[in-house]
Amino acid sequence: MSDAEGGGRYDAIVLGAGISGLVSASVLLNQGCSRVLVADEYAHLGGNHIDWSSGDYTFDIGSLIFQDDSPLLAHFPELLPRYVPIDPRWARLNPQGMVTAYPISLRDDLLAAGPVQLSLILGSVLYARLFQRKMANARDFARYWIGDRLLRRSGLEAYMRRFYGIEPERIDLQLARKRMQWISENASVASLLRKFLAPRPTGPGNRQLARPREGFQHLYSAAAEQLSQRGVGFRLGTKLEAITKEAGGFRLRCADGDISASRIVSTIPLPRAQELCGIPAAKLETVTLLALYFSFAGSERGFDASILYNFSHESAWKRLTVYSDFYGRAGGREYFAAEVIADHIGGDIAKAESDFRDHMAANGLFTGDLKLEGHQFLENAYPIYKNGAEEAAAEAVRSLQAFGIESLGRQGAFNYQPTARVSTIEAEAALRT
Ligand SMILES: Cc1cc2nc3c(=O)[nH]c(=O)nc-3n(C[C@H](O)[C@H](O)[C@H](O)COP(=O)(O)OP(=O)(O)OC[C@H]3O[C@@H](n4cnc5c(N)ncnc54)[C@H](O)[C@@H]3O)c2cc1C
Repeated sequence: MSDAEGGGRYDAIVLGAGISGLVSASVLLNQGCSRVLVADEYAHLGGNHIDWSSGDYTFDIGSLIFQDDSPLLAHFPELLPRYVPIDPRWARLNPQGMVTAYPISLRDDLLAAGPVQLSLILGSVLYARLFQRKMANARDFARYWIGDRLLRRSGLEAYMRRFYGIEPERIDLQLARKRMQWISENASVASLLRKFLAPRPTGPGNRQLARPREGFQHLYSAAAEQLSQRGVGFRLGTKLEAITKEAGGFRLRCADGDISASRIVSTIPLPRAQELCGIPAAKLETVTLLALYFSFAGSERGFDASILYNFSHESAWKRLTVYSDFYGRAGGREYFAAEVIADHIGGDIAKAESDFRDHMAANGLFTGDLKLEGHQFLENAYPIYKNGAEEAAAEAVRSLQAFGIESLGRQGAFNYQPTARVSTIEAEAALRT
């Protein structure tokens, strides 16, 4: 149903056409709404799932990989045939300049250290477990599980700084407990024992998927078509101006006309939703990501994984993804995106490029012709969980709730949702309650 056919009055308005917004629209239909409008200031579907193409090169702003058992597909089964099945491998560049297993390698991070270093590492783990049990931040959490020495030697500390955009000492402990659970899972004696004793799964696991070569619009237009057939209207690229209360619900003022609804579900950044409602906006810091898009021709790129994490102590790039492994070379050249935390290079593209090139040269990677094809900035890429940010975000959600608006999702709850799977599950749960 088009917006015009809707006549401007809806059961519900969903702000944001990202994963949380599309899933919210589907859940609202399942709950009995028949007239839903999805409105977004972005002119495209998929929120921060953004691609960029130039000639035959096709990049994503980040490493966007999906799975065929995602609950997102229960809402939108028509997405499945549009994905490209892939067989990616993940690796990391460690501080010793080796490309090795992600997130940690027993052989290269521990055994290769030699007997003296190994004893010191084990001693530091023991010391942390016995005497450093008090935790106040994410660094304390990681140190408790793997000890100071391995934290530095493995490069995990440097990666945390790069990933979260601030010193690990300033990262919220609650976030570490929630999102860095893999450290405790891999480092506790009980789980190590479980791993050795439990039978290995024999059946096929899930299939890894990339978006279609044509881009995310080709993927999510299938979801939008299905939602449209079920009564959902879309207003994309519309300037949202204000939300006011009126009898029986809300009025959303947009540059291209007003819309009324009994209910509003917001998945857009919390401060933006507050601003629309005339509520003082929360101060929540986020990471701006700079994606550098390179093509490469040469005899040896220096690693064969499709996704490489930077755990070394140098350089501002965080992760790179080789898209030519998924879609084939273009004009004989490989191509990949390197994600850089924009703040770490002062938002300067030339600086980011030279920092990346220098680091590649120092580690013997991409030896040959490396060409920058383009770049893109993504604001609000990750929430920065400084101590206290979680409470500030919860307070902002409450302020919208008091106004009558349900706010959820990566942006709408300032919640570090690592995958579309998590966004789907959390949107379903939020709307159920
Ligand atoms: C770089 C990156 C890599 C990721 N990799 C993966 C992956 O490999 N696999 C996976 O499953 N998931 C991945 N995710 C996470 C997953 O995609 C998210 O959980 C999901 O996209 C969140 O959807 P959302 O609708 O809640 O929020 P978003 O899509 O972030 O945003 C929702 C809406 O908020 C508004 N908005 C957002 N940013 C701005 C802004 N700066 N200004 C104004 N409005 C804005 C827009 O209206 C947008 O539609 C990745 C995310 C990022 C950023």
